[in-house]
Amino acid sequence: MSGSPLTPDSPSGLAGVEQEILRACKDAARDRSEVQLVAVSKTFEAEAIVPVLTAGQRVFGENRVQEAKAKWPVLMARYPDVELHLIGPLQSNKAKEAVALFHAIHSVDRPSICEALAKEIDKQGRAPHLFVQINTGEEPQKAGIAPQDADAFLAACTKTYGLTIAGLMCIPPVDEAAAPHFALTAKIAARNGLKLLSMGMSADFAEAILMGATHVRVGSAIFGQRSKPV
Ligand SMILES: *Cc1c(COP(=O)(O)O)cnc(C)c1O
Repeated sequence: MSGSPLTPDSPSGLAGVEQEILRACKDAARDRSEVQLVAVSKTFEAEAIVPVLTAGQRVFGENRVQEAKAKWPVLMARYPDVELHLIGPLQSNKAKEAVALFHAIHSVDRPSICEALAKEIDKQGRAPHLFVQINTGEEPQKAGIAPQDADAFLAACTKTYGLTIAGLMCIPPVDEAAAPHFALTAKIAARNGLKLLSMGMSADFAEAILMGATHVRVGSAIFGQRSKPV
């Protein structure tokens, strides 16, 4: 399975992103099936999302639990094989809804979230794939675990909370080259035996694929510029 999963009449943004993913996979000598495109549909309504679904895209990312809850159940009734990923910060009081709705959560970033998720996973018998967010740029306004605390936090996720962590996620600082941040995230994952890497957005997903990304989170390159603030 190395070809594009899309239909020939895909929306142009999606088709362009797919072309670039294929090229990056070729450059990196990786199979296309090793990289999941998470189409980030935050702020976009169903009418913008449906053409992307029709084209064959099935993995979508949202950054707010409430927004996803308002938009996706209706779409998922029509497209039951959709996989929904939470890519934005999670609050403990939303853990119940998040575990019920999302197939993956990319933003595990503190003990209270681990505790809330562990409780809900146990209660609901559902286990979304979990990524720990690393604040590689150590930016005070950004969520995520500091790189030097990552090993201890990952150990606590397993030992204290009994969670299975699938991988790491990062959002490089906007004003810096992304590559060193991708490299640092990949290094922390490797030494902790984690296979999945959620990194790369519209501006840098090809670079992220070259550095081992398994999940690229791409919004504006597919859907266009967001008019609403996020
Ligand atoms: C919005 C968002 C993206 C997508 O950003 P684009 O630049 O539009 O591709 C990716 N990851 C996270 C965490 C986001 O919030």
